[in-house]
Amino acid sequence: MQIFDHPEFDHHQQIVFGGDEASGLRAIIAIHDTRRGPALGGLRIYPYASEADALTDVLRLSRGMTYKSALADLPLGGGKAVIIADPRRDKTPAMLCAMGRLVESLGGRYITAEDSGSGEEDMRLIRQETSHVSGLGHDGNSGDPSPFTAHGVFCALKSAVRHRLGRSDLQGLRVAIQGVGHVGAHLARELHEAGAKLVLTDVDRDNLGMLVSELSAESVTPDAIFDADVDVFAPCALGAVLTDEVAERLKAKVICGAANNQLATAAVAGRLQARGILYTPDYVANAGGVIEVEAQRHQRYNRDSVMRHVERIAETVDEILGRAQSEDKSPAAVADQLARERLAD
Ligand code: NAD
Repeated sequence: MQIFDHPEFDHHQQIVFGGDEASGLRAIIAIHDTRRGPALGGLRIYPYASEADALTDVLRLSRGMTYKSALADLPLGGGKAVIIADPRRDKTPAMLCAMGRLVESLGGRYITAEDSGSGEEDMRLIRQETSHVSGLGHDGNSGDPSPFTAHGVFCALKSAVRHRLGRSDLQGLRVAIQGVGHVGAHLARELHEAGAKLVLTDVDRDNLGMLVSELSAESVTPDAIFDADVDVFAPCALGAVLTDEVAERLKAKVICGAANNQLATAAVAGRLQARGILYTPDYVANAGGVIEVEAQRHQRYNRDSVMRHVERIAETVDEILGRAQSEDKSPAAVADQLARERLAD
């Protein structure tokens, strides 16, 4: 397995492989960049088909965190951790405690938090071994960052709609949401309140059914979401969903959603641009969660100021889209360039 020559290596500062015989832990922590502060990023627990897949995922996600935090103006670097295990079958308190010791061994260079496959309860177990963990809530409130992520996506979406469709209200705007889990459901409710008409899908038909009746929305099968006759497509389920094929099928003129690493390849950004589809860079739109998780680490937590910070995502999207238009580049390329400029400052 290549490390330094890995296509996603991209100058990572440190990659740690950790194991624990007693609990069966097999984990990788990737620290991409700490120039702006400690590397904060969630812990993903997933039954990767191979160690190579786990490494590729953690490297891509960790670099994404560097760029996300830089553009959200947070005093943080970028990192991420993965455990190779099925969260429903293999996850045990002993494994999470061993993970906590691995995080502790890095002395605060990496701060962990929840991600897919790990939750608040898991973070409490990890905290038994290390203080370098966030997302545990504040003053008895839940640490779930999803409402903040959803609100940031909502603000980014309004900005993208203004740029591409020239309108500042969402009344009657048609939005397709792929995945109505933690973030997608909050986003759907905010959009409904703002007057948007929703087309929803999810592989979990029960959850979907309840939301569809609550919001008088339309529902379609998971594969049909790409063909929906809508103004906006909001991917809130999986990564790598924007393939060349999907770029050709979409009827939406704007893409803005919460999923990480939405572009299957960098080249898809060009295809979308050629079709006149405005792609809002995912790590800019979905930064609300990390803004909240960072705030939870500090004693003087103030929900209103977190919300104001999350709403500034719209200004960053405005700057990126304005620059993309004047420089005739894709928003994805401009976002990466802006993040690198901030890191070099
Ligand atoms: P979640 O697991 O709660 O929701 C994902 C939903 O997508 C689930 O309901 C699932 O059934 C559905 N789904 C899975 N495969 C699907 C498919 N093929 N078609 C349609 N639906 C499908 O996750 P979440 O916390 O809501 O996060 C959603 C996305 O946003 C993830 O990619 C996550 O990495 C990203 N993200 C989340 C946060 C956060 O604060 N939770 C922050 C940043 C990024």
